[in-house]
Amino acid sequence: MLRTALVTDRRYLNHHPGRAHPERPERVEAMIEMADGLGREGLKFIAPREATLEELALCHDGDYIASVARTAGLDHYAFDPDTRTSPESYRTALLAAGGVLTAAEAVLEAVADNAFAIVRPPGHHALPARAMGFCLFNNVAIAAAWLMQKRGLKRIAIIDWDVHHGNGTQDIFYYSSDVLYVSTHQFPHYPGTGSIDEIGEGPGEGFTVNVPMPSMFGDAEYLRAFDELIIPVCQEFKPEFVLVSAGFDCHFRDPLASMRVTESGFLGMTRRIKRMAAECCEGRMVAVLEGGYDLKALADSGQAVIDELGRDADEPVSPAGDGDRVMPIIERARNARAPIWKMD
Ligand SMILES: [Zn+2]
Repeated sequence: MLRTALVTDRRYLNHHPGRAHPERPERVEAMIEMADGLGREGLKFIAPREATLEELALCHDGDYIASVARTAGLDHYAFDPDTRTSPESYRTALLAAGGVLTAAEAVLEAVADNAFAIVRPPGHHALPARAMGFCLFNNVAIAAAWLMQKRGLKRIAIIDWDVHHGNGTQDIFYYSSDVLYVSTHQFPHYPGTGSIDEIGEGPGEGFTVNVPMPSMFGDAEYLRAFDELIIPVCQEFKPEFVLVSAGFDCHFRDPLASMRVTESGFLGMTRRIKRMAAECCEGRMVAVLEGGYDLKALADSGQAVIDELGRDADEPVSPAGDGDRVMPIIERARNARAPIWKMD
């Protein structure tokens, strides 16, 4: 059995992006209630710390950080129609970015074998100098940069299964060969980026991998994409740490998107990533909550991920089912990278 750190806090309820906003405090509340009920051996709750300004600056411009800081105490401020703040949003966003660092620290220091950071606001749409898509700071990107610049790691893989493309994360590492960014997402859909031919540029060519999928794809197509492309690419890359942008809005119940993933799909993706991490980097992985807007889907899928993180890494992987509909996309994604991807 593996030891999993759960980094979360009721202070994540303090960010209020507006009435009837889907990214609401109840999301983390539902996850905390679920996690409290698990009572499983090997589960370790850890309180998050706030990220420092220096840590935010690993991925964000100083002027932009200051503009978010200035919203502290304000009744509300709208960065865009989707992305609004309340008096405590800045502090909550510091705690979200810091929560992922807390989780990464727990794994690096072997306090736990892996971790799940249950944080909000989410991060993967946040650009270096711009809030968007409910995101203020790019929690996962900051952790990747921190692992490299503050902890000396050389190669980080980010796997993003949120239903939306993580344009912010892609943008931050688009020119880097040190971070492999792989995303599955509904396409076309918000935010509009994430086509197959976005593969990175300059030294980063081939280190961004997009798997854009039409609506209604589910477990079979997702797991097939992992087996045929995502896991093999990660195995070539040999990450020293794996971060997962775990959005649960590709779940069939989600109100903001139209994919068909179930709890067993999330379990299957987690199992595959965990085995790859065991092979490449002694199992070091941190899953981070991104989107997911149906409370039951969040709690049930979150539980599937936490349960799977706790199982030994040699659990057998059951076949993906057919999932043939994803294969033309996989072929095109392979071909887009083929000319430049030459790791031995
Ligand atoms: Zn999303």
